[in-house]
Amino acid sequence: MAPVDSKALIAKAEAIAREFEYTAEDVRKGVKEFLREMDLGLQNDGQPMTMIPTYVTSVPNGTEKGVYLAVDLGGTNFRVCSVSLKGNSTFTLTQAKAAIPKEMMTSDSHTLFSFLAQQVKAFVEEHHADHFEEFPDHHLQLGFTFSFPVDQRAVNKGYLIRWTKGFDIKDAIGKDVCELLQKEIDALGLPVTVAALVNDTVGTLMARSYTSPGKTGTLLGAIFGTGTNGAYVEKLSKITKMTKPGANIGEYDKSTGEMVVNTEWGSFDNELRVLPNTPYDQELDKMSVNPGIQMFEKRISGMFLGEILRNSLLALKDSAGLFAKADIAADAFLHTPWSVDTSALSFIEADNSEDLARTKQVLEAQLHVPAADISIEEARAVKILAHAIGRRSARLSAVPIAAIIIATGKVQPPPQPRPVAAKTDEELEVIDIGVDGSVVEHYPGFEKLLREALREVEELGEKNEKRIRMGVAKDGSGVGAALIAQVAAKMKGIENKVAGSTA
Ligand code: ADP
Ligand code: MG
Repeated sequence: MAPVDSKALIAKAEAIAREFEYTAEDVRKGVKEFLREMDLGLQNDGQPMTMIPTYVTSVPNGTEKGVYLAVDLGGTNFRVCSVSLKGNSTFTLTQAKAAIPKEMMTSDSHTLFSFLAQQVKAFVEEHHADHFEEFPDHHLQLGFTFSFPVDQRAVNKGYLIRWTKGFDIKDAIGKDVCELLQKEIDALGLPVTVAALVNDTVGTLMARSYTSPGKTGTLLGAIFGTGTNGAYVEKLSKITKMTKPGANIGEYDKSTGEMVVNTEWGSFDNELRVLPNTPYDQELDKMSVNPGIQMFEKRISGMFLGEILRNSLLALKDSAGLFAKADIAADAFLHTPWSVDTSALSFIEADNSEDLARTKQVLEAQLHVPAADISIEEARAVKILAHAIGRRSARLSAVPIAAIIIATGKVQPPPQPRPVAAKTDEELEVIDIGVDGSVVEHYPGFEKLLREALREVEELGEKNEKRIRMGVAKDGSGVGAALIAQVAAKMKGIENKVAGSTA
């Protein structure tokens, strides 16, 4: 094969990278459209951005107490844990994790939910045998983190609207997922009650609010993991679809005047009014199990970024002879959809070595292109693409965050002409945000890139961007589910019993 012109290769990589540019103007347009779709979803059922009322009407303040089970189904892994809330913003957590067998993601609901119940059984037998010995009739209360769109009708009742993130189990659509899990738990004879249904975003919000220092409650919980989504604290008066005549709404506590809303922002702008849409995005969408939906998520989250990179590498191969020496066969990994994991982007972004040895290693490990056959220019070209895709993801992620800060009136007005009216920096309130997910946790500089884009939103600027305190809600889904199970159990007057305690 003819030697590749390395200058042309880099130039072509830079040209493709430019297709991933998401400018300040784009960010601002995105925020405007997000605000519009938020309003639509708060006012009406059946909107693309579903804006789901969660029946959670307050966020924790750190004094909550007790032992609760939590399970988390939402993406790549299934987790079972027990959480002991200490009542002083701290907790201890024991957990077990199982990868969800791929074939189960497209099976039937009995197969999936009995698998989940078996994991719960194994966990309580290992970690809570003493509880059932001491309190034979007492049920452990369980919070079920289920991170797919559900039509929630009570704190422990929610009907599945649609699957996302590669799941596709048709007979579960329209069913109450708490009941599906409870049935399988009962079939195993376990003294466990599914007390609360929790979206991972809500869990993240609750967990962050329980653990975060200071008096300010958390505004927003955001996930950047397998998928992306966020939940925030909204005024009840703005969720007008709940008070429309004929609205089919369950009981909830109206005293706080607020409710946590799960936005389902993964499906923001499915119509592509403002989202970027490169040929690499289009190819991915075509190959996905849900073409035309979750279009925002498909440009941001862990399930997809690796595939966008693969598509752009193919373009670079076709147009400028990438991996010329390696002689890629037609059935090679590079030609296999979904063969690149998003962790590759993080490793490549972190590789600042002269020889890009780590980048070559990652390409060998994931694409089976022998590292020895990759030239330094080729590695550099791959890094240019990976960076552009990661950067676009982080900048897109600023759109919902900015919009929610604006919509909830958290923005401080620009300094007034009369200096007395302007608040000093110390007086400015913190805007607290909890985040979770491998992309935000592990992609180098994700938060920094996201913040750059936040500053470009006129209403925010540097002044408001600085007020944002963002932190990973460690074990968010487990702790959050435990916190909501706690509220639900307390409302029903169920006592929390802790084995081995003399209290
Ligand atoms: P879940 O979404 O199941 O709660 P995670 O938050 O861990 O789980 O997200 C898993 C997703 O993150 C997968 O799509 C995976 O490809 C991606 N991922 C895993 N490791 C990394 C990493 N180091 N950097 C970026 N993405 C990663
Ligand atoms: Mg998660």
